[in-house]
Amino acid sequence: MKINQADYIISAVGPAQYPSDGLPEIALAGRSNVGKSSFINKMLGRRNLVRTSEKPGKTQKLNYFKINEAFYFVDVPGYGYAKVSKADKEAWGKMLEKYFSERTQLSAVVHVVDLRHPPSKDDVKMHDYLAYFGRPVITVATKADKIPKGKHQSQKQVIARDLGLGPEDSLLLFSSVTGVGKDEAWRALSPYLG
Ligand code: GDP
Repeated sequence: MKINQADYIISAVGPAQYPSDGLPEIALAGRSNVGKSSFINKMLGRRNLVRTSEKPGKTQKLNYFKINEAFYFVDVPGYGYAKVSKADKEAWGKMLEKYFSERTQLSAVVHVVDLRHPPSKDDVKMHDYLAYFGRPVITVATKADKIPKGKHQSQKQVIARDLGLGPEDSLLLFSSVTGVGKDEAWRALSPYLG
């Protein structure tokens, strides 16, 4: 994928601020700190378009990035951050539930998990939730550079098993450091980019 343009558009607090141009949206879901922002930056070949390692839980907003005037990446606030208050978690839940259940422009979700670890309870919940709403999900197991190659396949199998993925589901290895998986991720996304 040749990236001609990648622009930050808005941090939306609710539907009134979501773009109204009807372009397809690819949302990034995943635990805080799992590597969602790094994934977007690597996919776009931009070092710092999406700020990485911002204090998680602080921004309960959907961050929109417009790519090639054709589609959006939507960085969704991460889940599973213990220090977020109960009220914030509820607000997060409500906004996201509305977005994932009702947003017609949402064409697919990239669910980012950590290749090194079995999926957390929240990862499993997130996957089930997206499947429940019938959203196409591409599961990306990132930080592949952090474990030896010899362990990649067995870790991938653990993730597939725990998330209940079948052979028809997309599960890709990725690393925002080495760029492994980038071409495959663009291929997996291509049917959803409009
Ligand atoms: P987010 O909260 O999900 O957006 O996570 P970030 O993209 O901010 O990443 C959290 C931390 O993990 C940062 O310190 C990143 O540099 C690091 N990180 C993200 N992806 C990778 C990866 O593929 N490999 C390695 N080694 N570190 C990564």
